[in-house]
This record gives sequence, C-alpha cells and structure tokens, in this order.
Amino acid sequence: MDLIAKLEILADAAKYDVACTSSGASRAAKRGALGNSSSAGLCHSFTADGRCISLLKVLLTNECVYDCAYCVNRRSNEVLRACFEPRELADLTIQFYRRNYIEGLFLSSGVVKSPDYTTELAIRTLTILREEYGFRGYIHAKAVPGTSPELIDRLGRLSDRLSVNLELPSRKSLDLLAPQKSRQRILAPMRQIQQSIAEDAETRALVRKKPTFYQRKTTIARKAEAFAPAGQSTQMIIGATPETDFQILNLSAALYRSLDLKRVFFSAYLPVSSDSRLPQTDGVQLNREHRLYQADWLMRFYRYDVAELIDEKHPFLDADVDPKANWALNHLEAFPVEVNAAPIEMLLRVPGIGPVGARKIVRARKTATLREPELRKLGIAYKRARYFITCNGSYMGKGVPFTRESMRAQLASPIDGGRHGRRAGNVLPGQMSLFEPEAAQPALPGSEVLAQWS
Ligand code: SF4
Repeated sequence: MDLIAKLEILADAAKYDVACTSSGASRAAKRGALGNSSSAGLCHSFTADGRCISLLKVLLTNECVYDCAYCVNRRSNEVLRACFEPRELADLTIQFYRRNYIEGLFLSSGVVKSPDYTTELAIRTLTILREEYGFRGYIHAKAVPGTSPELIDRLGRLSDRLSVNLELPSRKSLDLLAPQKSRQRILAPMRQIQQSIAEDAETRALVRKKPTFYQRKTTIARKAEAFAPAGQSTQMIIGATPETDFQILNLSAALYRSLDLKRVFFSAYLPVSSDSRLPQTDGVQLNREHRLYQADWLMRFYRYDVAELIDEKHPFLDADVDPKANWALNHLEAFPVEVNAAPIEMLLRVPGIGPVGARKIVRARKTATLREPELRKLGIAYKRARYFITCNGSYMGKGVPFTRESMRAQLASPIDGGRHGRRAGNVLPGQMSLFEPEAAQPALPGSEVLAQWS
C-alpha cells in the first residue's frame, strides 16, 4: 500500500479521537470559500503557554487486537487496515511541518500485537522526529492502557501532552463494552503520568532556585527531557452506556481533582459498528455533549462546584437552557446584581458575562458609571445579561416579568448540534496544492506523496 493511501486511512480513522480543541468547529469546505475545519487529518490544540496550533492528527495503525464494541477499528470489524512504519510517519510529519501546514503531531493508535509493541513503534517514530530531525514542535501522544511504566516514561519525555482514554464513564460499562481494558490498566498509567508531571514541575522549581553545582547538573539533565509539559488529558464516550450527566460530571470533577488533568473530553457515541450491547439507535447525543462541555467549562474557569450544576434528583443537564443560565434561574434570590458595585465573583454568575467581561467591568467602573452602551462596548452579551443586572440602580430586564418561567423563555437556546469532523459527510476539497508552483525548490523526501495528498 502506498503512503498516500495509508495517510488517507489513518487520518480518517483518527477523526474519532476528540482529544483536541477543533472538534467543536462545524465549517466544512464550500465553493468560493477557503478552508475547512471538518476534514480529517488536522486538528488544533493549545500548548502549555496557551498558543493555539495546528496538528497532524493521525493513527500509527488502525489494526487492533482488541475488540471494543463501540470502536470502528475493533478487531472484528471489516475495515481497510494500514500501518505506518515509524520512519514513514516521522518523514511525513516533517514534510508537513516544513511547509507550514502543521505545527505538531497528534498521534494515537490501535493496539498492534500488544500495548508495549505499539508504544515501542510510537517511541521509535517520536525518537526519529526529536533526535534525528531535531523536531521541537508540539506532540500529543496517546498512551495505550497496559503499557509498561518504562515505556510510558519514555513516551512522556518525547511528548508535550500525554493522554490515556478513560473510554467509558463507569467500570461496569468498561467491563461490558471493552473487557480487554480494565479500569486498573487505564488508571495506572494516568497516575504515573500525573506523578511524573509533578516531579518535573519540582525540578523546574529547583532550577529557578539557584541550585548547587551538583543539583544543577542533575536537574538540567532532567529538564532537557521534560515529561509531558503540556499536561495530561482524557476522553470518554457519552451515550453508549446508561450513565447520567450527574455521574459523568462528578467523575470529571474527581479526575481534575485527583489526577490534575488539563482536560476531560466528551465524545458523543457514534454508531459505527453493530453489536447487541450497544444502543439500538442512530441518534447521536451531540446536544448532550455540548451541554457537558459547557458545564465542564463552568467548573474549570468559573469555579462552579459540580453540586451547583447538577444533582441526583435531576441527573441530566437541561437541554434547552445552558447550565450557567439554569443556575441563575434556580437562584433568582441572588439577582439582579448591580454591575457598578457587585464583586467579580457575582458578576461571573451573570449569564452573558464571562471572565474577560467581568474583569473589564471591574476596570471600567473605576472611571465611569456603566450602563447599557458601555456594557455593549465592553463586549458583554447584553441580551442575556440584562435580565440579571441593574445599572446604577435601574433594572435592565424591563418588559419581562422577573420570574423563572418568563426569563427561561427568553434564555432558552436550543443547540444546533454540530456536524463536524468525525460526523460530517464528504466535503469538497477546494484547496490549491501548495506544491504545484514550487517545482523549482529542492525535492524533500516524501514530496511526491504530499503532492498527491494535497
Ligand atoms: S483498543 Fe482502541 S483502537 Fe482498539 S478496539 Fe479498543 S478503542 Fe478501538
């Protein structure tokens, strides 16, 4: 099989992995426009210093000895299989990188032969990139549950971010749908990664503290091989099994708390293979996934406690109202808040005011009294916020009774579930090859493959 065919198969197979931030985009290519956020093969991520970058998103192989019921690559599925040689993938990555298509690599894989064998292939690929090509770009690698600790350590020192998929929100569901992956085999590498990242942070702190000569020699050697400096993330499938949003959000909160995860990704279950253990429906719970991301955002950036967002009696997030608006509607006794005087913690509870907007309000009100025009200028979503605020004593939500039902009717915002990446149908390519006018440039290894690919 030629390289272009492998790339097509393995970039397409990687679209089911959502551990990247481009999975919320829904713009496909169209005639007369440039760009395509739906096509497989490229994703975006954030580096440790907050930059958004483009990554080549690909599997090392879609061969797999496991048979996870929900997975398109499961052993018993009849799909076209391919496997990169480590050098092939390293060369491709460098070719894309040199042409400025990408700034890094997102590398996942099916399990070929065993977790250790698969990880050794990934390590060989990344070693060629890092040591032979001197590649300093971003690498996000997936660790396979069941991999030996020494190999996880090596993989972590070649990667910027490491992640292990939690797969499903409970042990029972994991045992049912992915019996070859036990909870223990998943949690062990996650704990090891957490510990190694923490040790690395200590090393960096020591370097900053002007160490002794001996400490400097050892810490600098360790620092040269930082372990996953952009942290650890995970992913779980939503809707293949009966867990509620209450269970899923509590699990996410526990993961952030106990394993210091940077991010928990949710992936609405897609019916890609038939199995009597799976839901017998074609429905994809995209709206639910969206609400879970909103709640996750509130926990990470607005400091909401999971118990404020959901309880056991109402175990699913409201489908019609976002979780922040829902909290406000359930706590009308705390509103309206005076934007010219309220503490920032309370401003952050107002639907339509985010962390940036709240900080801008606090700064701007030092020199002016804020009313509607000023709030709009500051970029506040005034249409939503107005039901919950007063400006200099005057209530801004006039015309709508200050009751839960009336305000809920104004704030209801059904989600237009995105058809993106792994859900989108075929898209038009619509992009010009970057290689055509560049015939005069010296040919780089693999150029002919890239010319076909583009
Ligand atoms: S181990 Fe990964 S690639 Fe293999 S069947 Fe399970 S989910 Fe799919």
